[in-house]
Amino acid sequence: MQILASDFTGIRHIIARTAFVTAMFSFNSLIVIAASNYTGGYAALWSANACLVFLLMIFPRDEHIFYGLSVLLASSAVNLISGFALQTSIIYAVSNVLEAMLAYHIIVRLGFPRTGLYNPAQLIKFGLVAVMVSAISATTASLGNTAEFGDAWISWFGSDLLGLLIFLPCFNIIHATLTGAEKYNWPSNRRMEFAGAMLLVFTVSTLALAQSVVPLLFLSAIPLFVAVFRFGPLGGMVATLISAIVAEFCTISGYGPIAGLDANPITQIFVLQAYIASQLMLALPIASLLADRQQKVDEIIQHEKLLRHMAEENHRKAEEVKLQKIRLLARDDLTGLASRRHIMEKCEQALQRARSTGSVFSIALFDVDKFKSVNDQFGHAVGDEILRMIGQIVKRSKSGNHLIGRIGGEEFLILMPGSTITEAKMHVDLLRLAIMDARLVNPDISVTVSAGLAESFGSRDLEEMLLLADNALYAAKNGGRNRLEIAA
Ligand code: GH3
Ligand code: MG
Ligand code: MG
Repeated sequence: MQILASDFTGIRHIIARTAFVTAMFSFNSLIVIAASNYTGGYAALWSANACLVFLLMIFPRDEHIFYGLSVLLASSAVNLISGFALQTSIIYAVSNVLEAMLAYHIIVRLGFPRTGLYNPAQLIKFGLVAVMVSAISATTASLGNTAEFGDAWISWFGSDLLGLLIFLPCFNIIHATLTGAEKYNWPSNRRMEFAGAMLLVFTVSTLALAQSVVPLLFLSAIPLFVAVFRFGPLGGMVATLISAIVAEFCTISGYGPIAGLDANPITQIFVLQAYIASQLMLALPIASLLADRQQKVDEIIQHEKLLRHMAEENHRKAEEVKLQKIRLLARDDLTGLASRRHIMEKCEQALQRARSTGSVFSIALFDVDKFKSVNDQFGHAVGDEILRMIGQIVKRSKSGNHLIGRIGGEEFLILMPGSTITEAKMHVDLLRLAIMDARLVNPDISVTVSAGLAESFGSRDLEEMLLLADNALYAAKNGGRNRLEIAA
């Protein structure tokens, strides 16, 4: 049931789309045929086929056969109603559907983007496709109108060609705009400018084509250029469409320089077509060249952005590597404690701070006792492991602002900012006991450390403090090891 229901909705959609396509085609045909009755049956602009090609482009391909058949019937009926003989009506309908289908398939085969006006090469190809399908359609249609073959052919060819060239891009641009495929994020003043440019096109076209007292046709190129230069393909297409509709409307209503020509209606139609074609040829190539150039400029801007981004990224990475190196230099590899260089810098800073603020700090040098024999007994690798474990014990026992560094093989320095020598002594003694009590690597190994302490005092500099601490350490070693001494 589920499948049947969805099939049913599918069919309903197909019918709806087929009806829509047929209605749009018939609507376009009726308007143009009704208009052309004033001019002896010849149309200047045939929009119905462009409309059909456009709908083929946006609706599912497997439904095209239904649209084709339905439009064939409807088009024949429209022609019959409009007074053509049955055979002619059918031949005209076939010519229209044939042209639209051919145009659609070639355009798809050539892979044109839907609004392919942004590239001059594509524009030329599109023009050639339109010429070809219009010529084929004009030839088949003229079979139904053999009496005036030449005129009928030219008129059919001209109106279909112009219809395709003007209306197909217009339908596509409008559709792309409405569906959001093409975004015009225009601020309101740009919209106003667009409306103004189009109003100018309309006004000048009307001035030029609604009267034949003063010859003003040459003026119509000016607003067209304004539209093209300011708004590219979109401006060019809409301006051409406006000026074409104004020209056609004025002429078939009997106004303006073309209707006023002392010539038969078919010649007037040809002149009208030539006028519309000239507008189109002024607008489209320039619009497409401009759009092409704009796209290249955009690409360059994009490319430059990318390059800048890459340069910034490289710079960031280089900085990161530099920082990493500095961090590595600041750290002792084996124990993870501060390196000799780093802790010496920090001691120097602490000294400066103590001098400027009048605060106190202490340092302790401690050294593993008889470490040579540990190495000899258990091996160098075990010796390393013991140093690493001492590093962990020291880190665990350190309080807030203390900094501990490994300044030599088995020799360490503790910087204790703000600590008096008494506080420092308590801390280092606890540390000594912690190391002594720890079973390092295996339960049989325990090591002890000896330490020498010195406090910042008066004008003592760092070198002096280190020397004093070293002397105290020496005294601790001499005093039997596993103990600490304070510098005199
Ligand atoms: P004491 O300090 O108590 O006087 O005796 P000691 O044996 O510790 O002192 P000495 O200066 O004679 O020897 C220090 C030893 O420390 C020499 C070396 O084998 C060892 N040592 C130094 N750096 C490392 C290291 O990175 N790894 C290992 N495994 N041993 C080291
Ligand atoms: Mg030692
Ligand atoms: Mg030593």
